[in-house]
Amino acid sequence: MRRLNTQVVIIGAGPSGLLLSHLLSRRGVESVVLERRTREYVEQRVRAGLLEQGTVDLLRGAGLADRLDREGLVHEGFLLRFEGREYRLCFTDLTGWTTCMYGQQEVVKDLIKARETACGQLYFGVEDAAPLDIETDAPRVRCTMGGEAVEVVADFIAGCDGFHGICRPSIPSGALTTYEHAYPFAWLGILASVPPSTEELIYAVHERGFALHSMRTPAISRLYLQVGPRESLAEWPDERIWAELRTRFALDGREVLNEGPILSRGVTEMRSFVVEPMQYRRLFLVGDAAHIVPPSAAKGLNLAVADVQLLATAFTAWYANGSRELLDGYSRTALGAVWQGQEFSALMTSLLHRFPSEDDYMVRLRQARLRDLVTSRATATAFAENYVGLARARLAEAIDAPAVAPAFEQPDPPSETVTSLKTRVRDLDARGHAS
Ligand SMILES: Cc1cc2nc3c(=O)[nH]c(=O)nc-3n(C[C@H](O)[C@H](O)[C@H](O)COP(=O)(O)OP(=O)(O)OC[C@H]3O[C@@H](n4cnc5c(N)ncnc54)[C@H](O)[C@@H]3O)c2cc1C
Repeated sequence: MRRLNTQVVIIGAGPSGLLLSHLLSRRGVESVVLERRTREYVEQRVRAGLLEQGTVDLLRGAGLADRLDREGLVHEGFLLRFEGREYRLCFTDLTGWTTCMYGQQEVVKDLIKARETACGQLYFGVEDAAPLDIETDAPRVRCTMGGEAVEVVADFIAGCDGFHGICRPSIPSGALTTYEHAYPFAWLGILASVPPSTEELIYAVHERGFALHSMRTPAISRLYLQVGPRESLAEWPDERIWAELRTRFALDGREVLNEGPILSRGVTEMRSFVVEPMQYRRLFLVGDAAHIVPPSAAKGLNLAVADVQLLATAFTAWYANGSRELLDGYSRTALGAVWQGQEFSALMTSLLHRFPSEDDYMVRLRQARLRDLVTSRATATAFAENYVGLARARLAEAIDAPAVAPAFEQPDPPSETVTSLKTRVRDLDARGHAS
């Protein structure tokens, strides 16, 4: 059996594993990344696309944003349609932060290229990876590479292997507590070769169900429809998909949707899942291996990046001065952000979707919440802070604060560019939107 020695062995070359390996390498910590799939597969896997400003800043600071800065689409607001009207929520006016549309597979391509350039040890097509001796100070991963049995011996294992990975199930039963929730609907998502119909995302709340208009590039649109939980793609030929999208995005009878060839399609379950703690001895769980959210608030990838940032800093402190404090605190600190992301994802999911069990009373409560979001500056600000990731940055500061601290800091003085909601609604009128 061939034997490899390293400091951190990382299972999974999704965004979490690749970014962790990249950050560690920049800080002088060695790692080996083991990925089950081929490079082509992980570079083509279409998933997330909305990067919070904090995620973009981290990638830029790590030398990973050359192409992102050229090709990413920076957004300052989104459109919300309900009751036949459209409202624009300008989150940059409310928070000073932006978001960026850049496909997760593009982030993955940039990361793989960076690992290659740095001669990083990144192996694709690795079969049967099995974490062993995780309760000891010398954990190992046994696997098969190109038909050859290989053992990677390390100081730590990072489980970056997603929701269906091997690391979480390797932890002894009873050591983890699981929290989960399944929603009674799913998302049918398509990637279409057609320029986006608007520059910004459109969240459309309709009595037939929710629809989202998003994009990946100026030539590629990404669209989603709320569908039943067990719906099969065979029930959704192209014409049915476009007809349903047209209906849900319709605004006062106006045609608002560009249509084009569908490049790919898939159905995503809507569920929430968290395990606590995110660590067992020398095995650390990162990103989707420890927590998933429904995609409504686009938090999955951004939360994974937040975990990686924490863990990379903790490993660096360990190797720099033998300090265990950050490693021991990894799970507690990460879970603070995870639950904040869970809460906001649940809020957006319940605000936007038609629940099968919803009676008319519940529908009216949801409509009242939507109206509050577009008429109350306080509600819109709290929402926007979560949407762009500013709330997570505040939480990180609060965790570092002294034990006795004020419940919240005074808000930043509003910037001069902030327009009142009334002004914004007037702006919308001028642009021909209902208000
Ligand atoms: C359809 C879909 C749409 C999404 N949309 C959004 C969105 O709009 N916004 C957002 O923020 N998030 C979204 N997400 C979530 C986001 O994609 C994930 O949060 C993100 O991929 C997490 O990254 P990760 O590296 O932790 O896990 P993953 O991306 O799942 O990567 C895990 C890697 O580990 C590998 N692996 C698994 N098991 C093994 C094994 N035994 N041995 C070796 N390798 C293994 C896998 O092949 C994979 O490459 C979406 C997810 C899905 C599925």
